[in-house]
Amino acid sequence: MGVRRQVATSGLATSTRTLIPLVLSLEYLEVLELHLRRSKQILVDPMVGCMDSSLAVVNHEACLRVAKQIKEWNVPADYEDIALDDLSCKEIGNFFLLLVSICHQTSPTGKLLLEGIVNGKYRRGWDYLASRLEVDVRQDRLLLRPESWSQVTPKKVTELFRDSQYGDRLVNVERRSELVRDLGKVMKEHGWNSADDIYKVAHGRVAGESPNLFELLGRFKAYSDPVRKKSSFFLSLMRNSGLWQYPDESNLGPPVDYHEVRGHLRIGTVCVASLELRNKLLHRKVVSLEEDLAVRGAVFNAIMLISRACGPCTPSQLHYLFWNVFRSCCTREKPHCRTCPYDCDLPSQYVPLTFIDHERRCPFSFICTSSSVPVKYYDHVFETDYY
Ligand SMILES: [Zn+2]
Repeated sequence: MGVRRQVATSGLATSTRTLIPLVLSLEYLEVLELHLRRSKQILVDPMVGCMDSSLAVVNHEACLRVAKQIKEWNVPADYEDIALDDLSCKEIGNFFLLLVSICHQTSPTGKLLLEGIVNGKYRRGWDYLASRLEVDVRQDRLLLRPESWSQVTPKKVTELFRDSQYGDRLVNVERRSELVRDLGKVMKEHGWNSADDIYKVAHGRVAGESPNLFELLGRFKAYSDPVRKKSSFFLSLMRNSGLWQYPDESNLGPPVDYHEVRGHLRIGTVCVASLELRNKLLHRKVVSLEEDLAVRGAVFNAIMLISRACGPCTPSQLHYLFWNVFRSCCTREKPHCRTCPYDCDLPSQYVPLTFIDHERRCPFSFICTSSSVPVKYYDHVFETDYY
């Protein structure tokens, strides 16, 4: 998500202090329990609102250490800088609903990264996906209609994201087109023409009383992740674009993806309690669904804990900070623990945080448990379209 995008139609959303009530964690736990409780690997501590399992646990001490560091920073607001000002509000909602539905695995293990040149600028991962779709919809507004989604083919998806220089880098277009078709099909079944229709049915509620946005979005295959990475991300984009507000905004947690998993495992805010899982993470072996949910669940809870501990930073604002720093500086193979190389592409608004003792390096390097050790965790390998 490089420099995340600012939607020019609305001006910037201002991050405000959000206290995270217990209800969020309990509601979240309810979903996770469906997947994990059967294996009896999960211990719930509702007093602190955190989920710990025998697989991965939140390290409260490390979270407080990170929170203390973050409190000393002027953390940039969470925003996106995409200019969608020629689209209507309904079109912007559909743009994000479509975009996020296929936003997963853009730097797949063992395969080429999604990258290309859009409007003369090099883009990778999310940045490429979003800016390429932005160009595509300007040429064909019908792409934003649910009727079009229900007829999308793998060939069409390939064409939409093809780069003249880098070629066809978007992997698994069959599954992506299936997710988009399902998006269109479910929209039609419910008589929804735009994301705005979903918002109205939910009365803008993120969670809690039914119907709510998490529940309604969960009817789409693309948004069925129990940890709700895509749902949280989509709702954040809609809020940050100034289009939607939520009466229960504190129910909106961070969208956790593999960059954040890698960074939190390395910093030590999440500890791996299972030797088997530890081995899989260090040697890049495929993990199970339970292990995936446990690791991402622990990272989710670590971010929530840090958010509560460091005051004015919302979970979304922290997500943008962590996501950008981990993606650019805490790379899989050559993290910037001692120095940022000349080509470190950390977005400019985060660069002031990287100057430590007049040297530029990962801003978390002094408090990271992995910065001085040669063996570091990787993000877990798991075939998924959840993130
Ligand atoms: Zn760097």
